[in-house]
Amino acid sequence: MTLELSDFHWTMQLIDTLDAGLIVVDKEHKVCAWNSFMQNYSGVNADQIMGRSLFECYPNLPEKWLKTKLSSTEKMRTRGFSNWKDRPIIFEFKNFSPISQGLLNMYQNMVITPLKSPTGEITHFAIMLQDVSDIAKSQMHLKRSNEKLTELGRVDGLTGLFNRAYWESCVIEAFNEAKTKNRQPTLVMFDIDYFKRVNDNFGHSFGDEVIKETASQLSKAARGSDVCGRYGGEEFAVLLNDTTADQAYYFAERLRKRIESLDIETTEGSLKYTISLGIAELTTDDSNHVEWLKRADKALYQSKEAGRNSTNIAS
Ligand code: GH3
Ligand code: MG
Ligand code: MG
Repeated sequence: MTLELSDFHWTMQLIDTLDAGLIVVDKEHKVCAWNSFMQNYSGVNADQIMGRSLFECYPNLPEKWLKTKLSSTEKMRTRGFSNWKDRPIIFEFKNFSPISQGLLNMYQNMVITPLKSPTGEITHFAIMLQDVSDIAKSQMHLKRSNEKLTELGRVDGLTGLFNRAYWESCVIEAFNEAKTKNRQPTLVMFDIDYFKRVNDNFGHSFGDEVIKETASQLSKAARGSDVCGRYGGEEFAVLLNDTTADQAYYFAERLRKRIESLDIETTEGSLKYTISLGIAELTTDDSNHVEWLKRADKALYQSKEAGRNSTNIAS
């Protein structure tokens, strides 16, 4: 089959209308075709690059990686692919798409096709570059939204602490891990003293502010490994990993004193409030996490009975 000059002309026109980058290189990586897409985005004209080494003209390409890709398509005699999820940017092109605003660079998929001579020998490679910035952008947006939703499902809206359901799932995990990995977790539960009075005297939304302040004091007192949750209205719970009851007592007292020393500004002067705490370290007698929780709750109740503003360790 012979190729008429006019056929060749049409072929070049077709290649130029492609909304994708098309490059043909030989085995020395010398450029044999460089379509309009490539010219427009790279700013390099075909006549500047034809016959020259792709990597010399384009020094910021991932050279080693791309050369390996090319030689493996030659060895396997099949097409090679690169997905934006593995390597988002091959050619550093600016992104002009209005939909993918926010992505500075064009994200790309690439297909490498080994080209055979009439004798079946691979002499060239066609590199096709597809702009997938819009897809990448929306998939990344979706991923972030899903992460947000998962996060929302775990977090209490008022305080930003973990909600009861998620906190309890952490307690179950700690209970099971303690058995298999010989660890010592401890629970601290606490409740604001005479909170009904706060609501009655200053209103429910002021009450909410006091709950928020308490959560913020808890977060400041806790370490990164402590799991802090809002257990109920004005009840909080902390799971301390690798901590004994005696060690947890220091944490509890530090928090109790912190809150005791606070002055909350109100329209009628400053308000002081206190908390009561209960501590229970996990023991071999606890046959499930509910028993463990109940012991912490009972210790808290005993602090209330003893006059409030105090910490009590479960027996
Ligand atoms: P005690 O010292 O025995 O704990 O007395 P208390 O008044 O704090 O009693 P209790 O813990 O039983 O009462 C909790 C009150 O907290 C009852 C409820 O009206 C109020 N409360 C529960 N959830 C919220 C909330 O989200 N916001 C506000 N502002 N109040 C809440
Ligand atoms: Mg309560
Ligand atoms: Mg209370």
